[in-house]
Amino acid sequence: MNEADALRAAALLERAGLQPVAHAREADFLLLNSCVVRQQAEDKILGRLRYVAELKRRRPEIRIALMGCLVGRNPAERASFAARFPFVDLFLPPSDLEPLYLFLQAQGCPPALTPAASDIPPLPDSRSGHAILAHLPVMLGCSQACTYCVIPYRRGGEHSRPAAEILADARAMASRGIREIILLGQIVDRYGLDRPGEIRLPELLRQVTSVPGIARVRFLTSHPLWFTDELIETMATVPGLCPYVELPVQAGSDAVLTAMRRGYTAADFETLIAKIRAAIPRVGLSTDMIVGFPGETEAQFEESMALMRRINPDMIRIAKYSPRPLTYSARHLPDNVSDAEKERRRVAMERQLRSMLTEKNAPLLGQTVEILVERVEKNGRRHGRTPDYKPVFIVGSAADPGDLIQVRITWAGPFSLIAQAR
Ligand code: SAH
Repeated sequence: MNEADALRAAALLERAGLQPVAHAREADFLLLNSCVVRQQAEDKILGRLRYVAELKRRRPEIRIALMGCLVGRNPAERASFAARFPFVDLFLPPSDLEPLYLFLQAQGCPPALTPAASDIPPLPDSRSGHAILAHLPVMLGCSQACTYCVIPYRRGGEHSRPAAEILADARAMASRGIREIILLGQIVDRYGLDRPGEIRLPELLRQVTSVPGIARVRFLTSHPLWFTDELIETMATVPGLCPYVELPVQAGSDAVLTAMRRGYTAADFETLIAKIRAAIPRVGLSTDMIVGFPGETEAQFEESMALMRRINPDMIRIAKYSPRPLTYSARHLPDNVSDAEKERRRVAMERQLRSMLTEKNAPLLGQTVEILVERVEKNGRRHGRTPDYKPVFIVGSAADPGDLIQVRITWAGPFSLIAQAR
């Protein structure tokens, strides 16, 4: 979501006549986008802010904008931010470019830059390798309130965009050469539920997939509670809708899942995965895990490890629990797993993932798969992904970005594949 927001901001700046530079110290205008989902992300943006403050001390004429979840959507907090970061000229809430429009207009940038009624269509940047693939936010915010998660407090409540706007964005993307669209929402399988009379995700996926020029469509991230049979059926039958799901499970212990307020048990999750796999051959499954949630015992962590062995996913994004301001867990549940222990659990799960994926990907050797070429590497290799989202480097291909090509896998590692063009 942040990447989508940042690319839209970058595209707007370019439309206003600004040019990208190689290094921050050469820039007259700097926009920093921020994530605060974990303390680590927050520390990173605070470090970058100290750096740009120093740049501004040396060159007071530069302008600095801060965007995203550190800024949040609560105007009451804005005054304290202005006091805390006096060198910041402009604050932008997540997914909201309107203050940037107004700022650019005040600077005398092109009058054509009037704020759109809703979000402007994303205009991907051809140099950043995103020209083939574009992220398209279909929902903003989240109202789920998992006990550990800060997103509802920073991005506000759940809000689906009208399908007509999303389709207009998808067509605009296709006309700019985008070949793959990834629909984004915090709980994307809830799309439309907050808009009476609106179509739901399966129909939205059907419509986006049928936009001329769009070869592939994905969607993320899903929540197990709203992953319906109709959605599974749609994935199984609509060509171009990739066999790939991002379905965070977060823990393998039912007690921990309850404390996280996720609304399902480990067995529910396994049943859902079995159903998805039965309907969608060769589906890629990516999940998220949090280790060291408050009170997570060694035995409960082992339940997470065992669940991952049973599920055998294609990717796990593993995070160490980090208490976040205002969340239920930060207010009520002591962060009582030491950082050393969290790190030990993270490393153990990472190691297990590596060995599981080594084994899982080995049979791909010699197989032929279809790749959407996304970019040409410096060494001439093409880079793209399989329909189930495994990254592939292709040798012996003269294909252009945007081409769909058949390749034969010649090397299969845990986190990437190498293939020969056919
Ligand atoms: N709705 C999105 C949430 C994005 S946050 C989704 O389901 O993916 C992405 C991931 O960050 C979450 O899935 C979770 O694994 C992790 N995360 C969120 N809050 C966290 C916290 N307080 N500590 C550690 N990891 C967290």
